[in-house]
Amino acid sequence: MNGLMMQKQLLISSLIVHADRHHGDTEIVSRRVEGDIHRYTFRDCHRRSRQLANALTGLGIKPHDRIGTLAWNGYRHMELYYGVSGMGAVLHTINPRLHEDQVTYIADHAEDQYIFFDLTFLPLVKAIAGRCKTVKGFIAMTDRARMPTDSGIPGLLCYEELIDHSSPDYAWPTFDENTASTLCYTSGTTGHPKGVLYSHRSSLLHTYAAALPDALNCSARDVILPVVPMFHVNAWGLPYIACMVGAKLVFPGPALDGKSLHELLEAEQVTLSAGVPTVWQGLLNHVEQTGQKFASMTRTIVGGAACPPAMLRMFQEGYGVTVLHSWGMTELSPIGTVCSMKTRHAQLTPQERYDVQSKQGRALFGVDMKIVDANGDELPWDGVSSGDLLVRGPWVVRDYFRNEGACPLRANGETDWFPTGDVATIDPDGFMHITDRSKDVIKSGGEWIGSIDLENIAMAHPEVFQAACIAAKHPKWDERPLLIVVRKPQSSLTREELLRAYEGRIAKWWTPDDVIFVDALPLGATGKVQKNRLREQFGDHLLAQADGETVQGACR
Ligand code: ADP
Repeated sequence: MNGLMMQKQLLISSLIVHADRHHGDTEIVSRRVEGDIHRYTFRDCHRRSRQLANALTGLGIKPHDRIGTLAWNGYRHMELYYGVSGMGAVLHTINPRLHEDQVTYIADHAEDQYIFFDLTFLPLVKAIAGRCKTVKGFIAMTDRARMPTDSGIPGLLCYEELIDHSSPDYAWPTFDENTASTLCYTSGTTGHPKGVLYSHRSSLLHTYAAALPDALNCSARDVILPVVPMFHVNAWGLPYIACMVGAKLVFPGPALDGKSLHELLEAEQVTLSAGVPTVWQGLLNHVEQTGQKFASMTRTIVGGAACPPAMLRMFQEGYGVTVLHSWGMTELSPIGTVCSMKTRHAQLTPQERYDVQSKQGRALFGVDMKIVDANGDELPWDGVSSGDLLVRGPWVVRDYFRNEGACPLRANGETDWFPTGDVATIDPDGFMHITDRSKDVIKSGGEWIGSIDLENIAMAHPEVFQAACIAAKHPKWDERPLLIVVRKPQSSLTREELLRAYEGRIAKWWTPDDVIFVDALPLGATGKVQKNRLREQFGDHLLAQADGETVQGACR
C-alpha cells in the first residue's frame, strides 16, 4: 500500500520560488568584477533567473544541454545556478584557475553549448575560444557599456542585453527529480579531471541536511558570505541553502584578500562564512596586523583541507568566532561531516574542546561511513584504528560523467561504498578524524606517519605562516617526513628551533628529518597545498643529504 501524500519532485527551481515567496525582500549583495557593490533581493534574482531561462530557450538550449560558467561568486552566477538548472539544462561550473588546456578538455568533455564568463577571464576565453569543439558562443557577464571591443571571440554575447530582451514570464518546468542539474569536475591531480554529475534530488537532499543545526546551522537570521567559490562544488551548497532558509547572501567576487574580505564582512554584518584554511590564513593575518575584530561573524566553516588547531584557537580566543570544521569532496556534493559538539562536550576544558574540533566531525544524516583495513574488513570506532574511509548515500557519486576512469565504487564484492582516498579514524562518538590522504601518507620503515599531525605542530609555532609535510625518499627507511615551511615576515626561525617544538608532542621517530624554508607553498586551483609538486621538488632532498655525508638517520 502506498502512502497518500503528494508526489512533488525535488527540483532546484523550487528553492528560488520559495525564497521569492517567503523571503522576497532578503538581500543578495555582491562585490562585482567592476569593483562596485551591487545589491538586490531574492525577488529580483528570481525574476532575472526566469528572464535568463527565456534567453537560453531563445538561444536554442534544450533540457539536458550543458552550459559552462567561468565566474566568481556573484549575483549573475547565482542567476545561472537557478536559470540553467531550473529550465532542465545542466549547469557546468568550470574552475577558471585551471590551465587553458584543462579548461578546453573539460568543456569538450562536457560538450558545453555556451560558456558564460566574468570579464576577469577574458584572456582565458580568448585562449580557448577557437578550440572548444561544441561551444556555440560565449556570453560576457556584463552590460553593453563594458563589453570588450575587438575581442576576436566569435559569437560573443552580452549578458545584460540577453536579460533585457527576455520576458520574466516563464513557468519553471516540472520533471523527474533524478534529472541532472549540475556538473563539476574534480581537480584530478592524476589522470584526466572527472565529472561529477549531481541531480536535482541529490542537490535538494544535500541542502536539507547541510542546513540543519548540527551541520552548518543556517537560518533566516543569518548573513552568509561564501568565500568558497561557486565554481568549486557549488560553494559547498550555500547558494541553495540560503534560498531554503531565507538567509541574506554576500558574494565577495574576485576580491579574496584579507582586507577586502574583512571590509565586506563588517559592512554587511556577516554572521557565517565558509572557506579553505589558506584563505582564512590571509584574513587572520590581516586582522592581526591591523588590530581589527569581527563585529558580527560568530561562525566560520573551515573545510577542503584540515583546519590547523592553531587556527581554531585563534578564531575562538582572539575573535570569538567558532570554527565549524567540515569534511567533504566533489564526489559528495560536497559535505560529508561537520564537527558539531554533543551535550557531553559542554563539560570539556577549552583545550579538550579544541582537540574534538580538530576532528572532521560527525556524518550528516544521509551519509553513512566506515573505515576498513587493507583487506576491506571494517575497523572499530575506537578513535585509534585508522584505515581507508568509505562513504555512501544519496548525494555520493555512483559513476563519473561519461564513465571517465573505472567505476569509482569498490570492486571487491561491496559495490555500494565509495572509497574517498582519505585515511581516517572514527571515535566512539562517531567523530571522524582524517589523518591523511592515502597518497600523502608517509611510509617510514613499514609504519605509517600522518602528515597532518606534523603540519599542525608546525602551524602552532608563532613564527610559522604555512607548513606542509611530505614523504621524502630515504635510503634506510624508504620514506621520512620532510617539513616545508613559510616563515612569517621578519621571522628568522631556524630548523633546530622549529624541530624543538616536536619534543614531547609526538613519538620521537615521527619527528621530521629536516626543514626547508621557502617563500611560498604551491597552491592548486582550489586553494589547497599541492603536495605532489612539493614531492617532485623536494622528494630527493634526504637522498642528496645522505650522498653528502652520513645519513641523517631517522630518530628511532
Ligand atoms: P580536489 O581537492 O582534488 O579538487 P576536493 O575538493 O573534492 O578535490 O577535495 C576533497 C579532499 O579534500 C578530500 O578527499 C580530503 O582529502 C580533503 N579534505 C576536505 N576537507 C577536509 C578536511 N576538513 N580535513 C582534511 N582534509 C579535507
